[in-house]
Amino acid sequence: MTPAPAAATHCPYCALQCAMTLTPSAAVPVRPLAAPSVTAPSVTALSVTALSVTALSVTAPSVVSSGEPRVTVSGRDFPTNRGGLCKKGWTSTVLLDSPDRIAEPMRRGADGTFSPVSWVDALDDIAERLRRGRAEHGADSVGVFGGGGLTNEKAYQLGKFARIALGTSRIDYNGRFCMSSAAAAGNRAFGVDRGLPFPLAALGSAETILVLGSNVAETMPPFIAHLEKARANGGLVVVDPRRTATVRLTENGGGTHLQPTPGSDLVLLLGLTHIVIAEKLVDERFLRERTVGFDALARSVGAWWPQRVQSVTGVPVHQLREVARRLASGRGSYILTGRGVEQHVDGTDTATAAINLALVLGLPGTPHSGYGTLTGQGNGQGGREHGQKADQLPGYRKIVDPAARAHVAAVWGVDPDDLPGAGLPAVELLNSFGQPGGVRSLLVHGSNVVVSAPNVNRVRAGLAALDLLVVCDFFFSETASLADYVLPVTQWAEEEGTMTSLEGRVIRRRKALDAPSGVRNELWIMRELARRLESPGVFSESPAEVFDELARASEGGLADYSGIDYALLDSGAPVYWPYPAGSNGTPRLFQAAFAHPDGLARIVPVTPRPAPEPLNTPGSLTLITGRLLEHYQSGAQTRRVPELNDAKPHARAELHPTTAASLGVADGDLVELGNSRGSVRAIALVTATIRPDTVFLPFHFAGSECANLLTQDATDPISGMPEFKTTAVTVRAVREEVTA
Ligand code: SF4
Repeated sequence: MTPAPAAATHCPYCALQCAMTLTPSAAVPVRPLAAPSVTAPSVTALSVTALSVTALSVTAPSVVSSGEPRVTVSGRDFPTNRGGLCKKGWTSTVLLDSPDRIAEPMRRGADGTFSPVSWVDALDDIAERLRRGRAEHGADSVGVFGGGGLTNEKAYQLGKFARIALGTSRIDYNGRFCMSSAAAAGNRAFGVDRGLPFPLAALGSAETILVLGSNVAETMPPFIAHLEKARANGGLVVVDPRRTATVRLTENGGGTHLQPTPGSDLVLLLGLTHIVIAEKLVDERFLRERTVGFDALARSVGAWWPQRVQSVTGVPVHQLREVARRLASGRGSYILTGRGVEQHVDGTDTATAAINLALVLGLPGTPHSGYGTLTGQGNGQGGREHGQKADQLPGYRKIVDPAARAHVAAVWGVDPDDLPGAGLPAVELLNSFGQPGGVRSLLVHGSNVVVSAPNVNRVRAGLAALDLLVVCDFFFSETASLADYVLPVTQWAEEEGTMTSLEGRVIRRRKALDAPSGVRNELWIMRELARRLESPGVFSESPAEVFDELARASEGGLADYSGIDYALLDSGAPVYWPYPAGSNGTPRLFQAAFAHPDGLARIVPVTPRPAPEPLNTPGSLTLITGRLLEHYQSGAQTRRVPELNDAKPHARAELHPTTAASLGVADGDLVELGNSRGSVRAIALVTATIRPDTVFLPFHFAGSECANLLTQDATDPISGMPEFKTTAVTVRAVREEVTA
């Protein structure tokens, strides 16, 4: 048998979208998949592995029936990863032949167990139940929950499917939990939201980079190569309550670590802005010619003098002044935000405060400086542009805009009046399950809400109250395990498509292998359901056809892809949106004007608000949740990769030695974290890298280790972002034997 040609594609995980080559081995057949398993991954001994960033060529240890790996992974040279992959990337092919993979549609029986069912029977029954649900309870009784890992084509078609095949407004996606606050702030200030409005490689020439609330050294290790010049200049400034791997890059002359009290990021940014204004470090010409709103900002930050900011944040005045002056030094400065400062009920205002600081310094839209937010999920950028958000149509258009409705309806071949209005943001959508007027039937694509949503006990109860739950996944994720139907779908190496990386660059995902015979692409599933539902419009299963339609639907929108097609992408040209037909795209935004009609950026004064529940009360600690190098998002994939799971099989609760001693906890002890929403059991990791008033849990784990048993579903009033990063908990030692 002649092997298939190598596929130049990108990693299936995070938004850095590291380039890789997949080389199929000769004569290795698709593995006949065994009966699926719904058991959790095996638990092995705890171990801590070192951070690894490598440019490599690794034969992935995929186990197939012949014992031979089916595909070889090589890092591929590309501006973002320069040939490097992290351990998630180079073990990614293991999942193609995972014994947990679902081989055919599965239906839950009356006894609660799953049995195989044909595609025809599954889709016929699902369509009939959707039709009946709509007839009895209205179109908005059907909900759709998408994901930031879906290709552009799937995300686009899912939004279209919801609006014209189901006729529902009730669609949102898990990116609401990631990027919504930064997106809202970017739209408000600049008139458009592209995470990095400049190519990532531009960071490589910066002498000062302020990173707020992002641990890129663990979440996307190849990224740190772009921080080298700033480090060499002593100009890497990292804001984080923990001494993370990224913080450690500031040591030995690399820069500065600011370690504020959890939840005080907004005050810290107001304080930095106060100093910039008070010390006359502002870029007056930039403010005059390119912004509006400075005077109101100057008045509002007057109340945040350095000593007051020190008392609230714990960051010394001399550090605040040093950082403000360094950012204003005019030698190439960037401000970058991540989820640590955005996943709050005031996340939009905190991101706005970071943008305000950038604007008073005159950074955005200039050739060697800027502001950006670091998108996390694989297609977290493209996934928030083309219609799977509750208030959105393709091209980053607003669904309430009559002109947008008319344009998109014409592309879809429907009457604009037939399009539903705005739906509910993710937390409201989830909380509507089982409620009067709420969602009763739900389709889930690329999301594992039972682990990733806040207050998961409430989510679990809501899912149990549904009349119908259909989940498309490769595995029995924790959410799929609760479904009535689980539909097995293709993985990244088995499909064509496009993704849009964290720098707004549209890239090609290419097929390297055939999928197992019982597995289908979600475009095909949508087409088949739309046909059964007698939907208007065309639903293609061809990614290239869907992309061409996406491009037309996006034409004239903020995220205009109308000049892009597969041939252009396959030419290897760097393709950054907006890319109107006839243009060469936009690697760096805002050089001539911002995206508001008058071309000016908006400076919007913001002020801190009380936390939704009291923090730092006697006996409580503040819980921060975050990521580990070895795992991605809810862990549904990475917990099934033996090498990754063996390295980090458990959630470990990081506690400061002083705190641990006061609780009578030693490293390796079992502890219980609790509050009114639930409790989590985890093994203590006693470390001086965390503040004494804080406890950290990774959010990749399920069951009794799920950090989101504790988080709250209070949300940002502008973005709908839940409060993930500051949660009051009590911690106690559990006096029983630990067998991990
Ligand atoms: S940093 Fe790791 S997980 Fe992210 S795209 Fe690169 S290889 Fe994949």
